[in-house]
Amino acid sequence: MSTIFGKIIRKEMPAQIVYEDDLVMAIKDLYPVAPVHILILPKKEMKNLQAMAKEDLSLMSHIVDVAQKLAKEYKIEDNYRFLTNNGEKAGQSVWHLHFHLVGGKELGSIA
Ligand code: 5GP
Repeated sequence: MSTIFGKIIRKEMPAQIVYEDDLVMAIKDLYPVAPVHILILPKKEMKNLQAMAKEDLSLMSHIVDVAQKLAKEYKIEDNYRFLTNNGEKAGQSVWHLHFHLVGGKELGSIA
């Protein structure tokens, strides 16, 4: 099932793309909760982290690598949050796996 992020990845919908390679795309969140709010999306469609197949787990190290590079580029490397919402009750609203990279302000603890 295609989602907004699927359309953005296929360039059928606009987005502020801050990074792209064969495996992932990173875009600015349309409704940022902090000065830096980037979404990192694997190009392969999967609805969330729990649905990620074993053979795709290596993608996680690439996503972390991209997140670290973007954190440096946006000068938030000492203070950021990197998370995914898995499931409706956890706040997931778009059913294409994505990771939030949030920073640029005091974030406090979520626990
Ligand atoms: P979730 O709630 O699924 O964890 O995160 C979805 C995120 O996508 C939200 O932070 C929301 O602001 C963002 N978002 C929703 N629609 C769009 C859109 O059309 N473009 C972009 N760039 N971000 C979007």
